[in-house]
Order: sequence, then C-alpha cells, then structure tokens
Amino acid sequence: MCHRPFGGLLSSTDHTPRLLRVALPTPLRRLFDYRPCREVPACGWRPGLRVKVPFGRRQLIGVVVECPERSDVPDAQLKSVLACLDDAPLPDDWWWLCRFTARYYQHPLGDTIAQALPVALRQGRPLQARHQERWIARDGDTGPLERAPRQAELLAMLRQHPRGLMTRAITAQGFTRAQLEGLQAKHLVECHEERLTATEEESGSRLAEPSLPLTREQAGVLAEIHEGLERYHPCLLHGVTGSGKTEVYLQLIEAVLARGRQALVLVPEIGLTPQTLTRFRQRFRVPVVALHSGLTDLERLDAWDAARTGRAPIVIGTRSAVFTPLAAAGVIVIDEEHDGSFKQQEGLRYHARDLAIARAHRENIPIVLGSATPALETLAQARSGRYRHLRLTQRANRHAPARLELTDLRGRHRQGGLIALAIEAIRQTLNAGNQVLVFINRRGFAPTLACHACGWLAECPHCDARMTLHRQPQELVCHHCDFHRPLPDACPECDSGDLRPLGSGTERTEETLAALFPETPVHRIDRDSTRRKQAFEDILREIRRGEPSLLVGTQMLAKGHHLPHVTLVVVVNADAGLYASDFRALEHSAQLLVQVAGRAGRAEHPGRVLVQTLHPEDSNLRLLADSGYEALAGQLLEERRLAGLPPYRHLALARFEAAREEHVTEFATAAAEALREWLDAQDTSVTCLGPVPAPMERRQNRYHMQLMLSDTRRSALHRACAWLVQWLDNHPDSRRVRASLDVDPQTLS
Ligand code: ADP
Ligand code: ZN
Ligand code: ZN
Repeated sequence: MCHRPFGGLLSSTDHTPRLLRVALPTPLRRLFDYRPCREVPACGWRPGLRVKVPFGRRQLIGVVVECPERSDVPDAQLKSVLACLDDAPLPDDWWWLCRFTARYYQHPLGDTIAQALPVALRQGRPLQARHQERWIARDGDTGPLERAPRQAELLAMLRQHPRGLMTRAITAQGFTRAQLEGLQAKHLVECHEERLTATEEESGSRLAEPSLPLTREQAGVLAEIHEGLERYHPCLLHGVTGSGKTEVYLQLIEAVLARGRQALVLVPEIGLTPQTLTRFRQRFRVPVVALHSGLTDLERLDAWDAARTGRAPIVIGTRSAVFTPLAAAGVIVIDEEHDGSFKQQEGLRYHARDLAIARAHRENIPIVLGSATPALETLAQARSGRYRHLRLTQRANRHAPARLELTDLRGRHRQGGLIALAIEAIRQTLNAGNQVLVFINRRGFAPTLACHACGWLAECPHCDARMTLHRQPQELVCHHCDFHRPLPDACPECDSGDLRPLGSGTERTEETLAALFPETPVHRIDRDSTRRKQAFEDILREIRRGEPSLLVGTQMLAKGHHLPHVTLVVVVNADAGLYASDFRALEHSAQLLVQVAGRAGRAEHPGRVLVQTLHPEDSNLRLLADSGYEALAGQLLEERRLAGLPPYRHLALARFEAAREEHVTEFATAAAEALREWLDAQDTSVTCLGPVPAPMERRQNRYHMQLMLSDTRRSALHRACAWLVQWLDNHPDSRRVRASLDVDPQTLS
C-alpha cells in the first residue's frame, strides 16, 4: 500500500541536511544540487517535496530526490533553494512510479516528473487545491479598455452573466487567461475560487442501479479474480466482443469499493469511448473521476487530489492516468489492453499497460487486462501461467460473433472500393431495415493522385510519402507532415490533363454509397468528419436510433462502440497489414479486423462480415477467418520465437534524426561502432543491429535512422541502453542530431 516510508533514501528527517539533490524539468539526464533554504518544511527535508530553485536566470520548480552528503559542485557555486512548496512529500505511490519509469525507459527523471504531474502542480499550486475559478464582472470605469477591444468584449460577455462564468466556459468562447488577468488588474472582474468535486457519499448504497445477473461464464471469471483480491494477481480477461467484460469490471469494482479501496480504470480514448464512462457513472452512486484531455488545469488538479485523498473511489482515464496517485489502491483495470494508444510515441515513450503491471506488483493488488484480441505479449504471459487466463467465449446475447467471410477482389470491378457482391449484400441489409458499417482505414478521397499518361504520382516534397487526395475541401494533403497544396490542373511531369484519383478513401466510398443508395443516410466517421467537438457523439446518437443507414469509417469505429443495429460489416481491404515490413503489422491488422467484425450483430440480430482481399488464399488470413484470433496469435507467437522477436527477445530502438542526412549517418554510425566495441568488452549477449534508415527515411524534411538493441534478458539490455544513452548525451554531435531511445518499441517506423 502507499504510505510506506521512503525506503532507505534518508535515514533521519529531524536534522537539516547539508544538500538537496533535485530533479528539474529540463531535458538533461542529471540531477542538480542545492543548499536547503532556512525555512524547514513541516515534515522536515525529505525526498518527494517540491522546491523552487534558481536555474540560470530562471526559476524552476523541481522535486527533491535525495539528501546527499557530498556534491561534485564546489561549495562556492552551490545555490540555495528559494522555497519549499509542500509541507509533506508528494504521494509515495506516484513518486515510486516516476522513479521506476525514468529508470526503465532511461528517461531523465525531471522530465518524467513533469509529465506525470498535473500542470497546476508543476506551476507551483498548492497540493490541496481543489478549486475552480469563477469570474464575475464588477462595475467600474471601462475607459481603460478603449485600446483593448477583446477585453472589452470579454467584459461585456461577463456582464451578461451576473453569477459569473468558469474559466473553461470563457476560454471556450475564444478568450484567453491573459485577457481575464488584464481585466482583473484593472479591477473590472474578480475571481472566486470554488470547490469542484462532490464529496463522498456518507451512507447508503454505492450502486445507483442494480448489477445485472451474471451469466455462468461471467460469474466463473469473477470468482477467479476474487481469489486474488488482496495480492498482486494479474489476470487476462480474454472475452469476445460483447461477452460482457465491462459488466465483470463493474462488479469487480463494486467488491473493491466494499473493502474501502479504490479502482483505477485505463481506457484507450475517452472521447472515443464515452459509453464506458457513462456506464460507470450510471452504475455507481460514488464520484467517478474522469481524466481526459478536455479538463482545465484546475479540474485536473482537483481530479488528482480527489484520487490522492480517496475522495474519488473510481478514477477513469487514458494513458497518462496510470500516474494518478491513489490513497488506497484496490484494483487496476485496463480495458482494450491491446490498444496502441497506451504507448506514448514521443518523448517519454512509456507503455501505460506495462507501467500499470509494475504498479500493481509494487502495491500488491490485482490487475485485470481485458481484450477480445490480447496483445501477443499479454497472451504469452497468460500461456506461460504468469497471468491468469480467464475466458468469456459467449456473447451476453448468446449470438456467436460473426465469422469473417473472405471475398476475392482480384479482377473484379470496384465502385468506391466495393465489389458487386458487397454492394448487393448492403442493399439486402438495408432493405431488411438494418444498418451497415463499411470499414476503410484511409481517410480522404483517394490515397493519391496519378497521371495516366506518364505514371507520375503526387508525392510530398518533405517526406518519402504520397500525398492523399481530399475532396472536402479539394486539395492534396500529406498525412505525415500535414503539408497542404492545391490540386494541379495538369501533370507537373508531362503536362497531361489526365490526372485521376488512385484507390479509395473514406470520402470516395461515402460518395459512391450516397449515389448508390440515395434514400439512405450515409455517415462518415474519420478524423476529418469528427474534428468538431461532439460531432462523433452526435453521429453515434443518430445511428443508435436504429433507422436503416450506412456508416463509413476508419478504425475510430473499431473501438468498443455498441452499434446494436449494424448487422453487416464490410471491410473494404484487409490487405494493408499482410505484407507490411513491421513485425507487428500482422498482429495489429488481425486485432483491427476482429474488433471491427465485433461491431456486427451485437443486439438481437445475428451479423455478417464481408472481408474484401486480393489474397484470399493467404494462410494467415485464412487461419484468422477459419479458426479465430487466438489460433492466429498462437501461430504468430511461434514465428516470433523463431525470429527472435518480442515477447521472446526484448528490444530497444535508438532513433537518430536531423535535417542533414550526412549528420545522421555519421552520428548513428559512430554510436553503433562505440556500442559494439563496448559490448565486445562486456561479455554480454546483447546484439546490436544497424544503423539502418527508418522505413520512412525522410519525414518533414528530416532524416531518420535507427539502431536496434536486443537480448533475451532485460537486465543485460538495460545495462547496454544505459551505457548508450550516456555515450549519446556526452557526444558533441548530440547538439545537431537528435537521438532518443525507445524501450519496447511498438513499431520500428
Ligand atoms: P464487452 O465489454 O465484452 O464488449 P459489454 O460488457 O459491453 O461487453 O456487454 C455487451 C452487452 O451485453 C451490453 O449491452 C451489456 O449490457 C450486455 N450484458 C453484459 N452482461 C450481461 C448479463 N450478465 N446479462 C444481460 N446482459 C448483459
Ligand atoms: Zn504525366
Ligand atoms: Zn509530408
């Protein structure tokens, strides 16, 4: 549990130490020594306290890591801490996870802390703040506003709201905090701080609605999880889509709450899965705190505080919520644990699922990883017995999940990507009064524009990639660097006017379906059509009314949505992942196919899934269609074992990038040489591959190379990584070439 003392870092707290070693939010991989200030915090000087320190000409807020006896900095150059911001250290569970994360991912502790701490705390707000600001207009002379028209507009708006407005409501109207503070300085508005979250229920039932009676399978699974409620007990809840995993989480959490403990639930993207949050809020009468990107800094701080103090028994959030401190952690649930969004793909490249496992282990609590299509890593753990493998094989509504029907695309005429057989199936489904989901994992009108006279293809001038043709609005867009350009009238190579879209994207399929079925509404769901806040929710609400309609969408649609009236799913092209170079491509496309197929026939209607492919004989695709995900996963695991890939070997990828190609090559080559030399001298089994150009070598006019380290033992790999990052940091080239390390990379791109 969390209130353990800091293990051995400091023997005594009742004297003032000579020195404080502080982690600061800088990209530097080192800590900084300071002298304590005169004023001693109430708890004494201890690790985990926030301090304000002078740093060059700035002041920074950092966290005390230890209180060493000696410093490498000469006494005369040691500066003093300006102030201590806390009277007790930041929560122990949080602090442990930060240190673990920095070590595991070889990332600077200061930057790790910065990412794991709410902005408001990073800026020095008191820990106990659980307030939001309400801004109220005051009477006064508006003369000084003549030269500040936006402030004048803001004041006029506030005057229409005599009870004032919250910061978020104001910034949502396009006003800024600076404008508010400008008005405050002129005494034209005042700011009231109010408490946010409701406090815990004192008495009565925790449930707002009764639990569902469990199916026999659900009850069996729940009983098995219950066997380990008081210890580290990792479980894979492997249940087909619609098998009632969420109901199992809900009843598990109910039991955890009954013991006075808290639950942390991680979900892929709250914006994409509002239904999960709604189900939690409907079920429980206790506060359910949701951490998502839409919160203001103060709301986030309040949520953090509610979790830290135990005011919120249930915390739901995305990736970064893994860093939420809990007063009395009782269980961690990871929904859709295979989802790629749990891995951060820049800066601190952590995997929230892996950190959650480490956290559950350290706090000695159960953790449930739920998925219909578990990651191969997770499946391997379950197969080896390290995780308990719990299965739900039946849907709660007793319809078997739809089988994948492979349909041959070769030589068939296509309209908007669809062959006649698929169009006919769509027609029949609509005539029967049901809905159809057409899945196509490319947004835009067409993947590119081609010249039929000379074969020219529209390529991005900044990337090694084609530009996508969009119709709404009409332009070429690079999906890698977001470069936009107007459509050319003629081919830039041969001047021919015969330019045609090549292939289909969501816009084109939408257009085709609208023409084929003019009576039926067509809803397109992709990143472009859902830019507007709420747009996605609005479309989902419309679809759930159940009128016959067509949905065209990307993988946004694959994520756990309950679409009860969809009885036919058409996958426009299943081939993207079949022959891709990335070693996880096949795993990810199998997961996507099964997840999309799982949308069909969730209510009382059985479903059908048509999968168009140019490779109907492909053995992997066949295995998936005939025997299901687990059979394919077993085969892929065997291939990974033979190829020496995760989960049988552990990987770390060093990435290098710079504007000049030769700089990247030089630095990456030098790094590889130095590393090999060191490895030779170490008598270690770690291997080093590369450097090789990244699969997309040029992106946004920068060149990318990579170096891969691997070993069967984590400890050996870890030592090699630690050596490499030190070498990279100390090399003068690190000023012109950016180098970063990705431990357990999800993709090699
Ligand atoms: P999953 O999370 O595995 O995709 P859900 O928990 O969303 O599945 O369940 C799918 C549907 O089945 C939901 O509508 C849910 O309300 C219903 N359901 C789940 N468990 C039961 C049960 N024991 N009895 C009746 N309906 C259930
Ligand atoms: Zn041409
Ligand atoms: Zn580009």
